[in-house]
Amino acid sequence: MSVETKFIRALHSHRHEHTRLHAEADKGHEIFQSSLLNSLLKGIYDGNLSYRELAAHGDFGLGTFNALDGEMIAFDGNFYQILSSGKANAVKPQQKTPFALVTFFKPEAHLSVATPMSYEEFGRQLDKVVPSTNLFYSVKVEGHFDLIKARSVPKQKKPYRPLLEVVEEQSLFEFKNIKGTMVGFRFPDYTQGINVPGYHLHFLSEDKSRGGHVTSFSMHGVKIAVDHTANLHLEMPQQGDFLKARLAKGDADAIRKIER
Ligand SMILES: [Zn+2]
Repeated sequence: MSVETKFIRALHSHRHEHTRLHAEADKGHEIFQSSLLNSLLKGIYDGNLSYRELAAHGDFGLGTFNALDGEMIAFDGNFYQILSSGKANAVKPQQKTPFALVTFFKPEAHLSVATPMSYEEFGRQLDKVVPSTNLFYSVKVEGHFDLIKARSVPKQKKPYRPLLEVVEEQSLFEFKNIKGTMVGFRFPDYTQGINVPGYHLHFLSEDKSRGGHVTSFSMHGVKIAVDHTANLHLEMPQQGDFLKARLAKGDADAIRKIER
């Protein structure tokens, strides 16, 4: 049996098990998301949710910080803040986020990839093996990267500008021949405006010193772990600028420019 076939079977058998056990067993296994991507696009960079509270909903995920102070990556229960310098620090529980998503990562399928793979190739391959691109996937990639292009955003001052203007001032990093971990999600196309449709990945180096929001990569010798859920738990801010913002629809062009 090929690696790919095994991977597909593992995912499918898990899905069937879920169906049998019904919703009761699946309860609690969800992706928890605070606020909307559209809200960030509109320049709403302050939230009222602390990382202490966020961590109650998951040990794995990504997001940002109040005042858009860098990129967040979390795995194995550890949360890191990647500043616009590219340097990573441990997140303090009292720090707050305007946008983040987390889950309790329980991988259902593992895949080892020895051959070189780009971001596009990775997306194509994974899309082929997941049971449906209409569900939500959490993804962890560990190993050796020949090249990673990543970015982080600089801390903002009020009055906040829309994200599209801010990312023009983002810091871009290139990491060559680096070991580390990518953490991210795959969201369905229908979530446009709620989140980023397709893949969204953040990176942290093995020594936990550097990283960022991943814009492109080439990797070989990695392990990919995937977890799926049908449950997305959205929690909106109940105070601040969010309440008055016009958040009608996702702007596909803006999201593309911001994410890659
Ligand atoms: Zn990101």
